[in-house]
Amino acid sequence: MTRALALFSGGLDSILACRVLMAQGIDVVALRFITPFFAADVGDAERYQAEMRAKYGIGVQVRDVSREFMAVLRHPAHGFGHNFNPCIDCRIFMLRTARALLAEYGAAFLATGEVLGQRPMSQRRDAMGIIERDSGCGGLLVRPLCAQLLPATRAEQEGLVDRLRLLRLSGRGRAEQKRLAALFGIRDYPAPAGGCLLTDVNLGPRFRRFAPGIFGLPDVAAQVDSFRLLLTGRHFEPAPGLWLVLGRNQQDNERLLALRAPGDWLLTTVDRPGPLGLLRSLGGEMGAAGNGGLAGIAAGLLLRYARKVDGRAAPGVVRLESETGLREGRFAPLGEAALEALMV
Ligand code: SF4
Repeated sequence: MTRALALFSGGLDSILACRVLMAQGIDVVALRFITPFFAADVGDAERYQAEMRAKYGIGVQVRDVSREFMAVLRHPAHGFGHNFNPCIDCRIFMLRTARALLAEYGAAFLATGEVLGQRPMSQRRDAMGIIERDSGCGGLLVRPLCAQLLPATRAEQEGLVDRLRLLRLSGRGRAEQKRLAALFGIRDYPAPAGGCLLTDVNLGPRFRRFAPGIFGLPDVAAQVDSFRLLLTGRHFEPAPGLWLVLGRNQQDNERLLALRAPGDWLLTTVDRPGPLGLLRSLGGEMGAAGNGGLAGIAAGLLLRYARKVDGRAAPGVVRLESETGLREGRFAPLGEAALEALMV
């Protein structure tokens, strides 16, 4: 039986691409890549695989490519989209990675759920050509949803795939996809878009501000964890090259503790409930535990979100601890204007 290796995002288009091939009797292995920015909903891989098989009849393999993705995000040769999304380089990376896995999965060709003209950056005809060329997938990549609008691939020419049973979808409309979903008996599928945090307009400034510092960290695993931290809680730049994260709730606080790295300062309120704070250097000078200015700003931000006294943020005791020192002191909460100036 012919086997295809399909990039799988969990969205309707990728579900349909798999099902269109499966309807021809092709065995499809769907590959779901995970990074801190997309596929965060996967959670436990086995549970996810069982869910995809039960809902869509699709066999999914999950691969964490977070570390490898750092190089893509750091220097995307084709640049960024409207936000921090390096879509063309991301697609090239995914296809190149999948191509290298063809032999491992015993697959004859690759497939994606791309629809010609659906996305402004990566699904224009010229961009699709670039992606195919630069990923080394020329002739290898079948796009079942729009194949009839594109030149025949090797798999079609060799008769592994029946081109006549592939589709000719284009543009941003979803009507045809919905009709196909109904035809395949697929009812429960995610809403379009919204799956990739790199396209989030609100997160863009935060990515742009802190990414250069994060990429300056020498260890790739630390870079990945720092991006995870960037997606948690409230963020401030108390001084150039310094990064303070405050938890918004218990879940954030636990995440902050899990992502704490050597060299970080942990801030806690002592005399009232308050958020956890994590202060990290991205090249800036942290100073000693008693560094009055920095400690005062960081503690003042923490107190701003601690339990209020008579309805107002009030002075309180904050503990600052690192691997090498511990300091407790009484600090004043930062005012609104100062807070807004430091918030990222
Ligand atoms: S939206 Fe996100 S996951 Fe999709 S191609 Fe762009 S960067 Fe990659």
